[in-house]
Amino acid sequence: MEKEKSTGDFRYAVGAAKVPWHAVGEFYRAGDVLEVVKFLLPPGGDEAAWRQRLAAVESALQALSGEAATATKLTLGQQVQAAEAEARNYFDCRYACLLSNWTAGMEIAYKLSGLQAGDEVIMPAVTFIATMAYPLSIGAKIVFADIDPETINLDPADVARKITPKTRMIVPVHLGGYPVDMAPLMELAAEHGIYVMEDAAHGMGGAYRGRKLGAIGHFGGFSLHEVKNINSFGEGGLLLTNLDCGEQFAQARFLGLDFTRKIKDWLYDISPLTDRFGKLQIPGNHSASELQALGLRLQMKRLDAIIAMRRQAAEYMNGVLSEEPGILVEKTDTADTYGTHHLYLLRIDPKKVNGDIQTLSAKLAAAGLTNITHFGPMYRFRIMKQLGYDENAIAATCPRTEEMFYHSYTHLPLYPLTPEQLRYQAQAVVEAVRDMKRGR
Ligand SMILES: *Cc1c(COP(=O)(O)O)cnc(C)c1O
Repeated sequence: MEKEKSTGDFRYAVGAAKVPWHAVGEFYRAGDVLEVVKFLLPPGGDEAAWRQRLAAVESALQALSGEAATATKLTLGQQVQAAEAEARNYFDCRYACLLSNWTAGMEIAYKLSGLQAGDEVIMPAVTFIATMAYPLSIGAKIVFADIDPETINLDPADVARKITPKTRMIVPVHLGGYPVDMAPLMELAAEHGIYVMEDAAHGMGGAYRGRKLGAIGHFGGFSLHEVKNINSFGEGGLLLTNLDCGEQFAQARFLGLDFTRKIKDWLYDISPLTDRFGKLQIPGNHSASELQALGLRLQMKRLDAIIAMRRQAAEYMNGVLSEEPGILVEKTDTADTYGTHHLYLLRIDPKKVNGDIQTLSAKLAAAGLTNITHFGPMYRFRIMKQLGYDENAIAATCPRTEEMFYHSYTHLPLYPLTPEQLRYQAQAVVEAVRDMKRGR
């Protein structure tokens, strides 16, 4: 961390003047800030009124710029340090690293875990492509665990069946924000000497047995993409660990630049990553900007309140939908779990409602409701066949994934829906299911 401070404090001395490090690049000016304001707060209805208010902001910004310096450190500076300190505190973990996106965070965790070509990684059959992107890129083998039909999270019992001597990692995904049952996975990992990485892209702010999701496995972390629980100006990622990773954890995000060591006549040295087997891994560039860090810090303050609102919305949906037999409402928390309700998991019993999810989806779409089965069986992508995976053979090992995906589930949004929108959504589901039962 100190090294970043010294980088930030670096000054070019030009005679008596001292100009900042960033002075070799371009600054942002008041006019640019105005464009950012217009972008983040576009007209909401009465455009004439908006223009009038904007004119006031513009003159205030011009006046302010007369008294202001310009921000001179735009990446990996004090905002990033502060965001990481706040993250360590909130998630109660040893290290936190802010990144360009979560796919990059997983890449670093996979590298530190020593994943190599030919190794096996067990992950749920239902997730987002990002979870398996790095293992596929290096020729590691993805082993798909079947899902628990109640949560569509990976089923620890199926993980246990699929462990082989080549298994290096287990990657649970808290899909839709419902916490994976972590205890049996951590036990399996300890027994077999393998690592667990939590893909908590949907789980930011949730908890399992009193510990925050993302801080339970050997590695874990979050996407700060615009569609997640909170974001950092549209893109970002946060990687956590409690392992003793040392300086290399932060260095891993920026090509291994190491200001704590210098080579002769140079400012710094490059430190490769040393993985858990002592092998060298070459870091890439996954830095986060100061604005991303600021964006995260602003929204982190609201995270608990956002999760509470999502929870209320899910409870409302459950209340209305539980009145109609055949609709399977979202699983509620147990004594062990605190879910984030990132998405509402809507399931039906096809026999009881006289049709499957495709029919219900079409009816909801006709009622003007977007409902997306965001996450499908990963082994169905064409790329998997091109890589030599046999989709039908894998499907045979994931029967509940097949059943759920093709017949039973979809996702609905919960936040930031208004009470009226939620009511419309819940009623539309109930009416569509009643229609199906009547054979319409
Ligand atoms: C969004 C998402 C990711 C990827 O995050 P990025 O920040 O977009 O790289 C990974 N896994 C899951 C389950 C996601 O939903």
